[in-house]
Amino acid sequence: MRVHITVDMEGMAGMAHEDQADMKGLDFPRMRELLTNEVQAAIEGAKAGGAKEFVVCDAHDTGRNLIYEKLDKDVTIIEGTAYGEGMMGGISADFDAAFQIGYHSMRDTHAGTIGHTYSYDIAELYLNDIKMGESGLASAIAGHFNVPVVLVSGDAHAVREAQSLMKDVVGVPTKEGVGVYGAKSLTPDRACELIREGATKAMGKVATISPYVVNRPVKLGVVFTRTIMAQYVSQMPLVERTNGESVVYEAKDMIEAFRVFEAMMMIASSAGREGYL
Ligand SMILES: [Zn+2]
Repeated sequence: MRVHITVDMEGMAGMAHEDQADMKGLDFPRMRELLTNEVQAAIEGAKAGGAKEFVVCDAHDTGRNLIYEKLDKDVTIIEGTAYGEGMMGGISADFDAAFQIGYHSMRDTHAGTIGHTYSYDIAELYLNDIKMGESGLASAIAGHFNVPVVLVSGDAHAVREAQSLMKDVVGVPTKEGVGVYGAKSLTPDRACELIREGATKAMGKVATISPYVVNRPVKLGVVFTRTIMAQYVSQMPLVERTNGESVVYEAKDMIEAFRVFEAMMMIASSAGREGYL
């Protein structure tokens, strides 16, 4: 069996502030090592459950976080940012299952640690009117290729978000957010034990968990944190502005929806440099 593993950082055990996930931060060398351990635990657990091949997408920020030499040598790595499916880089219909490691809550989650949705310019994201965060978006991209997400580990709020979309997914909460910059966390070693066990269990459920398939066409709804961002983004062809900070776009499928969303984030980022509003 082939498994795709997307790895974010803010949801990992032992992290409570975005500075710790910043390459230039003092804590980053420790955190990248601990995150690598979580990924390796997932690989070991999945192997015990029958998985043979792995693609690991290093999906946080610039995609240069994991210590690749500490992963099993037969794993394929998607590194950096040059890919069209974002945090699901490398995904295709050739996979049997997908894992999400280190995932965090969406923006605006009460007490979800470092809760955000892709970029700090995004207040809310909707797919066919269902509000979702990065876990839901990644699951929908996997679902486009008919690949079921069977394991989600990270902030308990993110795990609950995932289970609200896919009730049978195996969830491994490694910490409970107790504030935007607060966490009640497992120790890194305990988190790895539970991820290893969860991954084995998840492999046993591959045949029974359905992919998260978003109906086509896909209505992409985005609420920005600032009005100027929606103003600029609404100049994209076929994007409709629905109020001061919100836009919608009808995409033919999830891949188009995701690529338009990425383009929106790039435009929003440059719009944000014009002023404060
Ligand atoms: Zn993230």
